[in-house]
Amino acid sequence: MNTAQGHETPAFQAGPAEVDVAIVGAGLAGTSLATVLGKAGRKVALIDPHLVHHEEFRAEKIGMHEMQAFEKLGLGPAVRPLVTPVTGTHVFRLGQLFERERKWEFGFSYGALVNGMRQALPAQVPLTVGKVAEVSTGPDRQRLVLAGGAVIEARLLVVATGYSEAVRRAIGMERVEESKAHSMSIGFDLAITPRESPYPAIICYARNPAHRIAYLSVFPICNRMRANLFLYRTVAEEWTRAFRENPQAVLCEVMPEVAAQCGNFAVAGPVEVRQVSLTTTRAHRRAGVVAIGDAFWTTCPTPGVGINRVVTDVDRLVSTYIPAWLSTPGMGAEKICAFYDDPVKVATDTAGMRSSIYAKRITTETGLEWRLRRLRNNTARQLMILGRKISRRKELPTPSAA
Ligand SMILES: Cc1cc2nc3c(=O)[nH]c(=O)nc-3n(C[C@H](O)[C@H](O)[C@H](O)COP(=O)(O)OP(=O)(O)OC[C@H]3O[C@@H](n4cnc5c(N)ncnc54)[C@H](O)[C@@H]3O)c2cc1C
Repeated sequence: MNTAQGHETPAFQAGPAEVDVAIVGAGLAGTSLATVLGKAGRKVALIDPHLVHHEEFRAEKIGMHEMQAFEKLGLGPAVRPLVTPVTGTHVFRLGQLFERERKWEFGFSYGALVNGMRQALPAQVPLTVGKVAEVSTGPDRQRLVLAGGAVIEARLLVVATGYSEAVRRAIGMERVEESKAHSMSIGFDLAITPRESPYPAIICYARNPAHRIAYLSVFPICNRMRANLFLYRTVAEEWTRAFRENPQAVLCEVMPEVAAQCGNFAVAGPVEVRQVSLTTTRAHRRAGVVAIGDAFWTTCPTPGVGINRVVTDVDRLVSTYIPAWLSTPGMGAEKICAFYDDPVKVATDTAGMRSSIYAKRITTETGLEWRLRRLRNNTARQLMILGRKISRRKELPTPSAA
């Protein structure tokens, strides 16, 4: 079997049978947690059905806040080589250039990020490739039986299986759909390269709420110019079929103000469409097991809060809870509940969910309240544009009399 680096490795690498923490799911959350715990000298088993995380359209950009969180966790050296930094974004609103945001952001391919971080796992934390066939949890020991028959026993079980339900269901956790098919995200490469792009990165907000589009984000990932379109439609709609068939025509129609800057929206490669639901979890307050990242809640890609939630979970667990839990006997539900009730975690999850709901309502709601809110926001923006034009005119030198 090939690793992400192309080396030959055995198809199955057994982790230690007795560990402090067993982590099921080696996505961003599971791999980050395993790395930090392993470096801290904990005995960790990390289990995932796939040695190499497949290329899929997921998060492709983070901000400085998330990067600083990775640095704080000691993951900066692993993450930094896997991302493409951007130092400024040209923001288009109301059909014109609105502002240049001077802030650091970082673009990446999700699969490459996860695989790169897996390769940076400490030597004492091998990735165990396998499927969990049986799981039992309790106030003292957690027991996993893998499909091949290998048994892993742990004091704590961490479920980091993302959207996947099998392990969560086996434990008794229930997914609650807060907003089904809440939003849609579309990812594709533009035909222009970063060198050919007049701006390092672009964000363009849609002018017309009828388009149900939140915004288009264009940014570099290595030598590609990547585009993420966030909108509120379903995959089954005629609009989506038309977009898949001719993304260039649709984008030129809805965002003509940035067409020239985006190579007239010529698209290179596949158009990837993902529907996302907002979900929370029920029946998760149990002895011995904790769910993190998307295995706990799923938020919307539009406000870009998923990775902040992942790094917050990892940080709260490694900085506070896991060291305390392992320092005393037992792993009762009261220990686990302290994490779910952690004020920083609760605030981060709640803010993520709230911004996911707000972003949709401010874009699509047609009731009076929301139309007034849009009018207020857009009037304030128009005044800012006007104010800037006036001050620019004042700065111009007055022509001297000849
Ligand atoms: C289209 C899209 C765009 C997004 N854009 C953004 C963005 O711009 N900014 C942002 O912050 N967030 C964004 N997100 C959210 C972000 O991608 C997620 O919040 C984050 O990746 C979750 O990481 P995770 O480790 O919890 O889950 P995942 O990365 O899904 O990892 C789950 C892991 O569990 C493994 N697994 C599954 N089942 C089992 C099993 N039975 N046994 C063992 N292992 C198993 C999988 O193989 C996988 O490796 C986006 C999401 C989507 C869908």
